[in-house]
Amino acid sequence: MTHRWGMAVDLDRCTGCEACVTACRTENNVRIAGPEESAKGRSIAWIRVERYYEGDFPDVRVKFRPVMCQQCDAAPCEPVCPTYASHHSEEGLNAQIYNRCIGTRYCANACPYNVRFFNFGNPVWDRPLDLPLNPDVSVREVGVVEKCTFCTQRISAGKDQAKAEGRELRDGEIKPACVQSCPTSALVFGDLNDPESAVSMLSRSSRGTKLMDDLGTQPKVTYLKKEY
Ligand code: SF4
Repeated sequence: MTHRWGMAVDLDRCTGCEACVTACRTENNVRIAGPEESAKGRSIAWIRVERYYEGDFPDVRVKFRPVMCQQCDAAPCEPVCPTYASHHSEEGLNAQIYNRCIGTRYCANACPYNVRFFNFGNPVWDRPLDLPLNPDVSVREVGVVEKCTFCTQRISAGKDQAKAEGRELRDGEIKPACVQSCPTSALVFGDLNDPESAVSMLSRSSRGTKLMDDLGTQPKVTYLKKEY
């Protein structure tokens, strides 16, 4: 059975600690922008934690929402790419082939979630920040658009391991870096084609919502509404 990868984000569990943001950056060799680059809006974060405030001081309530590529089934970023760098994989991932990307940025403009990032320069990591670079993830060059891949390298490694052991993948066995690092288990990843998987069951929850659902992008990330 072909997999169809998805994620569920429980907004009741997210404390806004940003462990997911740090883990994603390290796992995926996401370049670090200094203050000057950031001031020009050129920083890159494959996952961000949005903050929303309700009420007036001192009765203020804060809500957090982690936002990454929503891996849309009807992805507006794909048909606009003239080189098919942005395309749909067999497992439903919105994949990006870096060496096909010619940097038109049509995909980033078409994406309503602001989760695609253009590299305005070649990445530089000063010592010791170059030491943890992940050899399983390509370093992106100037002129290339990048974004969250659901840690596709971990998906491949998980599938290879299961195949080598002659068994099916277990639910929850593959964890993108953000999911693995979340101390409150707010993020759940898995196969939406398996109706019994944790992510499938959470996606069917009455608390489930999709980001900007009315746009018809059919995201594979489900947000479980905050109830408390
Ligand atoms: S969230 Fe944006 S980048 Fe991701 S698939 Fe949808 S349109 Fe494409």
